[in-house]
Amino acid sequence: MPHTAPEPAPHGLRRLAFGGDYNPEQWPEEVWHEDVALMREAGVTMVSVGIFSWALLEPEPGGYDFGWLDRVLDLLHEAGIRVDLGTPTVAPPAWFYRAHPEALPVSREGVRYAFGSRGAICHSNPAYRSAAANITEQLARRYADHPALAMWHVHNEYGVPVSACYCDNCAAHFRRWLAGRHGGVDAVNEAWGTAFWGQRYRGLDEIDPPRATPTVANP
Ligand SMILES: [Zn+2]
Repeated sequence: MPHTAPEPAPHGLRRLAFGGDYNPEQWPEEVWHEDVALMREAGVTMVSVGIFSWALLEPEPGGYDFGWLDRVLDLLHEAGIRVDLGTPTVAPPAWFYRAHPEALPVSREGVRYAFGSRGAICHSNPAYRSAAANITEQLARRYADHPALAMWHVHNEYGVPVSACYCDNCAAHFRRWLAGRHGGVDAVNEAWGTAFWGQRYRGLDEIDPPRATPTVANP
């Protein structure tokens, strides 16, 4: 059997990479050549791109604009700089939230957050999960074989929103998680000490995630 040595990972790099996030969409394209020249001068060997670019890559639902990212990857490749390509899944476009306002996360105080930052995501929301899978698939189809691609930057900053989401969708997932962890409501009552303050539950459907309470919550 012929033996093929495993490809080093990240693809195309044989020693510790040096670089950082590169967001060229934030300034005019004529600056990009100077960016890359300065990277070379600084010894940069890999950059992460596309992490917050969903709104530019999919400017309308199902309509894609990959031209600018093609040019960025080609430019970096010509300079010998490897690319860690981000899935832009931490920053869905404004049009997505107009269609799916319920995909915005809810704080433990019951406040639904607004669009205008990153990480405004209810991770249990089916529309978000579907849209995130779709843009990721589009990127993979287009760039899987691009010579600049060294590795994938899958999502960004796991754990935002910082306070997680307490919406009804997430509450349903929380109950499923409780069922898996404890088996049934009697075991939850036992584990949580719900004899305190009259919290005893008759069924998992009566349980909410740990939302804000008027006095000290059961720890
Ligand atoms: Zn949620």
